[in-house]
Amino acid sequence: MTLIVVVFGLAVGSFLNVCIDRLPRGQSIVRPRSHCPACNTTLAARDLVPVLSYVLLRGSCRYCSAPIPKRVLLVEVGTGLLFLLLWSLYGPSLYFLLAALAASVLVAVLVIGFEHRVGLGRGHGSPETKRKGIRDGVRR
Ligand SMILES: [Zn+2]
Repeated sequence: MTLIVVVFGLAVGSFLNVCIDRLPRGQSIVRPRSHCPACNTTLAARDLVPVLSYVLLRGSCRYCSAPIPKRVLLVEVGTGLLFLLLWSLYGPSLYFLLAALAASVLVAVLVIGFEHRVGLGRGHGSPETKRKGIRDGVRR
């Protein structure tokens, strides 16, 4: 059962990466299907296996060799470990589900905040958020 919880955590981490990539840009987290941001190739199922795909592809796109951010791996592994920790604390219970949900939201919010320098005051936006006019998570 513990293995299932960790694999579930890895899968949730993979979904969180989609949220982290797309939500700050105002994009849907459902469509389009996952694609390489560099070459736009739609990724196959074998490219989307949490952790395993990253390791087997040595952290780069199968189609254009563009590097995949290390954050993708960190979020997947981190979420898997968080789920393992919460499972060891709460076991099979509603508490586990609620804590896992809260932890997932927290991971996404923290990573988005870190990547976009939200909350560090004026003038600290990342080059991308400055270019796109996004500050404090609000498009202006
Ligand atoms: Zn690519």
